[in-house]
Amino acid sequence: MSADHTAPAPAPSDFIRDIVAADVAAKRYARIVTRFPPEPNGYLHIGHAKSICLNFGIARENHGQCNLRFDDTNPAKEEIEYVDSITADVQWLIAGWADHCLGFKAKGTTPALQVVDGKQDYYLPPVDQSKIENQKSKIEAEPFSASSYFDQLCVYAVELIKRGKAYVCDLSPEDTDKYRGAPDRPGRPSPWRDRTVAENLDLFTRMKAGEFPDGARSLRSKIDMASPNMWLRDPLLYRIRHTAHHHTGDKWCIYPLYDYAHCLSDYLEGITHSICTLEFVDHRPLYDWILENLGLPRPLPHQYEFAKLVPTYTLLSKRNILRLVQEKVVAGWDDPRLPTLSGLRRRGIPASALRKFVTSVGVTTFNSVTDIAVFEHAVREELNQSSGRRLAVLRPVKLVLTNLAAGEVFECAATNNPQDENPTTRPVALTREVFIEADDFAEVPPPKFFRLKPGGEVRLKYACLIKCDELVKDARGAITEIRCTADLTTRAGQPNVDRKVKGTIHWVSATKCVDAEVRLYDRLFTVPEPGNAEDFMKVVNPKSLEVVTAKLEPGLAAAKVGERYQFERLGYFTLDAKDATAAKPVFNRAISLKDTWAKA
Ligand code: ATP
Ligand code: MG
Repeated sequence: MSADHTAPAPAPSDFIRDIVAADVAAKRYARIVTRFPPEPNGYLHIGHAKSICLNFGIARENHGQCNLRFDDTNPAKEEIEYVDSITADVQWLIAGWADHCLGFKAKGTTPALQVVDGKQDYYLPPVDQSKIENQKSKIEAEPFSASSYFDQLCVYAVELIKRGKAYVCDLSPEDTDKYRGAPDRPGRPSPWRDRTVAENLDLFTRMKAGEFPDGARSLRSKIDMASPNMWLRDPLLYRIRHTAHHHTGDKWCIYPLYDYAHCLSDYLEGITHSICTLEFVDHRPLYDWILENLGLPRPLPHQYEFAKLVPTYTLLSKRNILRLVQEKVVAGWDDPRLPTLSGLRRRGIPASALRKFVTSVGVTTFNSVTDIAVFEHAVREELNQSSGRRLAVLRPVKLVLTNLAAGEVFECAATNNPQDENPTTRPVALTREVFIEADDFAEVPPPKFFRLKPGGEVRLKYACLIKCDELVKDARGAITEIRCTADLTTRAGQPNVDRKVKGTIHWVSATKCVDAEVRLYDRLFTVPEPGNAEDFMKVVNPKSLEVVTAKLEPGLAAAKVGERYQFERLGYFTLDAKDATAAKPVFNRAISLKDTWAKA
């Protein structure tokens, strides 16, 4: 698995975009409308980012719209916490890029009954985006949800029954499975398959009214019990679940299944291209069957499938992440070590880098694994351009510049960002006592050690050259102080400024600095494909989090959530949105400067 670090083409194309382009050219639809349909049963992860960027990207490139739709048909697993986090994560990922394409509807509205082609129908035309004046009104509007279509979905179910295309079945869930057969042998028809329309209508009405317990009956489509495609062997449309729903409360005790709700939700929203992942290829004939057999007016939506994003050293799937959260391997869904969008945001990953990564891996129809190093490279590239540089020492050891008086301050100009077109500087104070990184000093240096050693010279970045004269140790022999002389003639503007030495190290003034908790994150798993491990709990990286008390240049006390900094020679850091307080800054390392796993 080798990482491809080349920049992605600016305007990506792929087989789905080619299909959309052909449909646009043929004027098959008035407007391109896509959707991103998460089930609110967990937080979104980096795999979802790929789907979001594909769906919103296509809308953006075609002056279309992309609906955020909650696929909330299974009340047992869904929660409002997840609805809220998903909404926030999608908004974060598309902000400033495709938020103008976000589909929405006015609060509390459902598709209106309309007469289309002389027939009554529940078609919901896409909202006219131009009528919405500002972002605020959009946010106040609500995302779409399958549950807001429950009434219409029942109307469609009645229509299928009337057309002889659906029946109420009394087989238990276990018997339904048994009757379905196996891929290599046909199923058997349910004994209830030939009920009359009148009987089916009566039973379905009573299912809906709550007359039967969970699992006693179901509504099934009548397709083909011998089909080689298992999904066409009279799949369930509705099941009985006496469970409250986070959105509809106690109104319903029958809930539609995904395959039934999805195609019709797409239809009701005027979706043109319904894009999902490869495991739904076999469901596509069912998607089409439902729309065709209801005789709905055209144009109908179409389903297209692409391969999931599967990055190395990462575990996706909400089910797996939930286990990491529940078993407290991580501190919650937004733990910065998780591949959740909330975790990545908290860690300091810019949305733009995430978008660039998920777009650069492309859209294909074969499953493959993507090297996480490609993602990390995209993050470093982005942060290198945009992050201000600061001085910070993670594992401090004290260094005394013996030729400076206590209280004496030399102001040095530190560059804010060398990547800027016209880089600016800020003052940092050089004082008699400073901190340097413990591993920038070696009493017994290995070969080619160019940092500080007894008798050796290095440059303190932005300040001057220093020479190590003497060590002070405690009773146990640990170094408590490194005593040096500063060559002040090598400061900026001084005659010997250009005198060269091999090493340059970072530092902060010991008298003008702030303490901060710094959380150093690393990959959560030790193996490239934790999903293939016998038990992924056994391959969790025990060193995925190290917490240190660092010394930071004082300006960082005013850092704000969302700002990202390069701590020179260390990596990219951001203030923790949850735990940082005015009294105690907490910083997260988004990523180190170099890939420490490359050689491993
Ligand atoms: P998970 O199994 O991780 O919980 P899911 O597919 O069950 O994912 P949904 O909420 O149903 O999650 O997914 C919403 C959309 O995101 C779907 O269209 C799905 O195909 C897509 N999606 C989910 N995982 C990935 C992935 N790894 N790569 C690309 N798209 C994905
Ligand atoms: Mg799912």
